[in-house]
Amino acid sequence: MNINKNYLNLEDSYLFSTIAKKVAQFVKENPDKKVIRLGIGDVTLPLAPAVVNAIKNAADEMGKQETFKGYGPEQGYAFLREAIQKYYARKSVTLEADEIFVSDGAKSDLGNILDIFSLDNTVLVPDPVYPVYVDTNVMAGRKILYMDANESNGFLPLPDENVKCDIIYICSPNNPTGAVYTKEGLKKWVDYAHKNDAVILFDAAYECFIKSEELPNSIYEIEGAKNCAIEFCSFSKTAGFTGTRCGYTVVPKALKKQGVELNKLWLRRQTTKFNGVPYIVQKAAEAVFSEMGQKQIKENIQYYSENAKIIADTMESKGIWYTGGKHSPYIWLKCPNNMSSWEFFDYLLNNIQVVGTPGAGFGKNGEGYFRLTSFGDREKTIEAMERFKNLF
Ligand code: PLP
Repeated sequence: MNINKNYLNLEDSYLFSTIAKKVAQFVKENPDKKVIRLGIGDVTLPLAPAVVNAIKNAADEMGKQETFKGYGPEQGYAFLREAIQKYYARKSVTLEADEIFVSDGAKSDLGNILDIFSLDNTVLVPDPVYPVYVDTNVMAGRKILYMDANESNGFLPLPDENVKCDIIYICSPNNPTGAVYTKEGLKKWVDYAHKNDAVILFDAAYECFIKSEELPNSIYEIEGAKNCAIEFCSFSKTAGFTGTRCGYTVVPKALKKQGVELNKLWLRRQTTKFNGVPYIVQKAAEAVFSEMGQKQIKENIQYYSENAKIIADTMESKGIWYTGGKHSPYIWLKCPNNMSSWEFFDYLLNNIQVVGTPGAGFGKNGEGYFRLTSFGDREKTIEAMERFKNLF
């Protein structure tokens, strides 16, 4: 019996546990000081009333003989896939319903999609990076190449013709940097993918924060992307589903490798290993697309966006370099006075009791940077930034 030794190659992630330990120690030593947390990537506003109503109605249906549902379609109920299809149509992206796969969230699918790719593929990920892209490939034993995201490219790396890879991860708006690709930027990646016979895995988990018509919410807004890209999306940040769990993945039928439709492989993978998302949750997700649901979730997104603006304005006023904030819930800032990420973490905790996330935890290029999030409470965000203004 042999274990999967690739797991032994995973680097332990001490990022959030170290933050928690440091904060707990500080609170123990300074019980009178009020700590404000702007480090979390989780939402804080409750589900929209339209969503809660849908959950209650669906629960009632499940409790009645005539409307009870057992196993649902693995790919998701037609009502939800059609709602997603219409959502894409508003962005002028035409999808067939069976190109959409409903899931329990983007994280699972980002990991599971690797089932359909050979282990000898080379993977290209940005640095800094959402750690799931790296760890899922380490588990499988794939070769990973890193592309530098840094201040000089605005944390939006473009293809390097000298680098050859088979699977490319792109996250826009980006976690952790908040940077967003333009259509021209994504077109360069689509062209590169075609030239190199590569597949793009496009993570659009934060697309709802994009406020400009000029910026792409979906990679399929780029010509030719249906032949080379799979898109992952989620209701987590769009509608506060981090604890409710629902997302979707788009695998266009036009995407073929070695003469095989990847849509067919993914369908086979899902029907074999996945039994679908609960009916109640899919009804909740459907309600997100209703007129009332859209109005209510937009109010929540606006709330977070205003928090982001408060943080971004503070960085402007202090002359601190940053990305994100405008089309993203994340503000990625350069630590002042050449402090390292962890030095700045300690500095903020000790001096103003504000907690953020050290950029070094997302990759080597994150060193010297710091992530603040807008998912917190308005009053606390304002207070944290007032405290920030009095620093240095
Ligand atoms: N992709 C990115 C870039 C994320 O930051 C997250 C969550 O923080 C996810 C995917 C996971 O989303 P979900 O809650 O749908 O699994």
